[in-house]
Amino acid sequence: MALLVQKYGGTSVGDTKRICHVADKVAAARARGDQVVVVVSAMSGETNRLIGLVGEVSAAPSQREYDQIVATGEQVTIGLLAIALQARGVSARSFLGHQVPIRTDSAHGKARIRKIETEALRVTLDEGAVAVVAGFQGVDDAGNITTLGRGGSDTTGVALAAALGADECQIYTDVDGVYTTDPRVEPRARRLSQITFEEMLELASLGSKVLQIRAVEFAGKYRVPLRVLSTFEEGPGTLITLDQESNGVEEPLISGIAFNRDEAQITLQGVPDRPGIAARVLGPIGAANIEVDMIVQNVGADGTTDFTFTVHKNDYARARALMDDICRDLGARSATGDDNIAKLSVVGVGMRSHAGIASEMFNALAAENINIRMISTSEIKISVVIEEKYVELAVRTLHRAFRLDEESAVTP
Ligand code: ASP
Ligand code: MG
Repeated sequence: MALLVQKYGGTSVGDTKRICHVADKVAAARARGDQVVVVVSAMSGETNRLIGLVGEVSAAPSQREYDQIVATGEQVTIGLLAIALQARGVSARSFLGHQVPIRTDSAHGKARIRKIETEALRVTLDEGAVAVVAGFQGVDDAGNITTLGRGGSDTTGVALAAALGADECQIYTDVDGVYTTDPRVEPRARRLSQITFEEMLELASLGSKVLQIRAVEFAGKYRVPLRVLSTFEEGPGTLITLDQESNGVEEPLISGIAFNRDEAQITLQGVPDRPGIAARVLGPIGAANIEVDMIVQNVGADGTTDFTFTVHKNDYARARALMDDICRDLGARSATGDDNIAKLSVVGVGMRSHAGIASEMFNALAAENINIRMISTSEIKISVVIEEKYVELAVRTLHRAFRLDEESAVTP
């Protein structure tokens, strides 16, 4: 008998027919003898609808009342699922966040879970019932309803699994797992049977479509085995674990390729090469609350240096304007920028023990005449910035070069 936390997202509970399908799946787990805590989101579109209603009334709503309203979507789905389970002869009891209780801080709209009291849930499980818990919401010390931020039901699921010491937290969604890359760009992308938390975090741009990144961090921290799987198709999904389980066969070097088109590049040329320059350049950017991702600085022969960094495309115009001022102040030659860039990363824990991945990557890109503008590396990731128009070609090229489309040894 296992203790499972199963989380079903908005599309999985999008209408009453789907809620009945979820009830069938939960009933099947009970029939196998497992204890089940189910976490559900609001029906798809419902949270957006509620946020829209708030917007119609005020542009600057009270955060407390906002949470009071947007938390209601989940109240409907827990009740409906509990009733659907009961209709199948499975005893079930629904819980709002404050009925568990799931205690959070008071940061409305982005509250953090502090503590989950598990007694009430344990009593329900011990009675042989399914506990159906509202995702996304909690209660602060003053008894106010709080919400955890968009997509927060994933975090509820993981936090409950951690608090209960569950055997697995299963995130049911509309895709059947985490893929080697975006299948819309590379149709030969493959579902990964297993991936580590670290890799999953580095693949955030792929993974965030599948589950909330904060939930992955949480699961890693509390060592909760996490599985992503489809509500609509049977299959093992993708298991996210602490360590790549070795099965004795050679492990893949690269697990996946992530990319994003959300960054823009800014370059300051001919900056006098003195101590403190980086701080002078990036200080105003930080002060303007603009996040910097990649940074490259290289020293030229003439006593000046070139300084390049990337920011989110949304911040590009602001950052670019700041750089014009800084360029003047520092007596640099010019400030230029480009928002038609893309960042592409290959990720894999296998890199730690293998040299030569970077050169293999650069060779493959060179063979397609794709120019690399910036490079950054970590222990398990190599990222490059390239021209945006080449991103799909680059993804497919690297997918092939690292043989990600081939069934790997660790795929069941
Ligand atoms: N219903 C909330 C949202 O749409 C929470 C969730 O679905 O995870 O963001
Ligand atoms: Mg979601």
